[in-house]
Amino acid sequence: MLKGKNALVTGASRGIGRAIAIELANQGANVAVNYSGSEAKAQAVVEELEQLGVNAFKVQADVANESNVKEMVKEIVSKFGSLDILVNNAGITRDNLLMRMKEEEFDDVINTNLKGAFVCTKAVTRQMMKQKAGRIINVASIVGVSGNPGQANYVAAKAGVIGLTKTTAKELATRNILVNAVAPGFISTDMTDELTEEQKASMLAMIPLEKLGTSQDVANVVRFLASGDANYITGQTIHIDGGMVM
Ligand code: NAD
Repeated sequence: MLKGKNALVTGASRGIGRAIAIELANQGANVAVNYSGSEAKAQAVVEELEQLGVNAFKVQADVANESNVKEMVKEIVSKFGSLDILVNNAGITRDNLLMRMKEEEFDDVINTNLKGAFVCTKAVTRQMMKQKAGRIINVASIVGVSGNPGQANYVAAKAGVIGLTKTTAKELATRNILVNAVAPGFISTDMTDELTEEQKASMLAMIPLEKLGTSQDVANVVRFLASGDANYITGQTIHIDGGMVM
């Protein structure tokens, strides 16, 4: 489905980013694994991707740092020869109630989640314009649509990502660069494994499909949006939330 395509997935050393990287590689795409934390984990993902028969390498960059990101994109284009798919996945949370939220907690979350997506999108756009084709997929969150107490910073960033998706989709449409977002709901991760039964039950009560999502559920939709099957879709945000927000 994606044979010969070259992809960059940000924050791909674990969690949803790792699942996306593996899914794209499963479809034949070469993948640059961006990371900012553990080099060993990024290397482990690279080795998993290589076992699937694609080219892969790790590349360190803070997505919110424009000069880091420009260098990263330069390196990818020089190694792969093109860049067809960008997945803006890197994200952090710094939860706190509004009255307790520090300026620094607000800034950090906006910088990584929103500015990071802007900086990476801008950095790949010239290359994709030259190619007259590209796919950009932003990982937002369902709380960017619904709001969520204790996450003013994260919700503002993710709502911003949805706005960025629509605007960049409109700006880049004539260049055949398609920009979409996915908005995951409650996804089963190491974090949710640690919740109490009571906390899990109250989460499930909000989900019509009565189960948490998986990283693979998110990766499947990203793969679809990156593929030829999504040729006529741009500017959309697809909810992957078991029907929680409709
Ligand atoms: P995670 O913490 O496991 O993964 C996030 C990754 O981003 C990590 O590898 C981290 O090192 C990387 N990262 C953080 N800051 C970075 C930076 N400045 N530059 C480069 N990389 C950076 O989290 P996850 O649950 O896999 O989340 C992935 C994405 O999905 C995030 O954007 C998150 O907001 C979104 N999301 C997650 C859920 C969920 O339930 N897990 C729900 C909705 C949306």
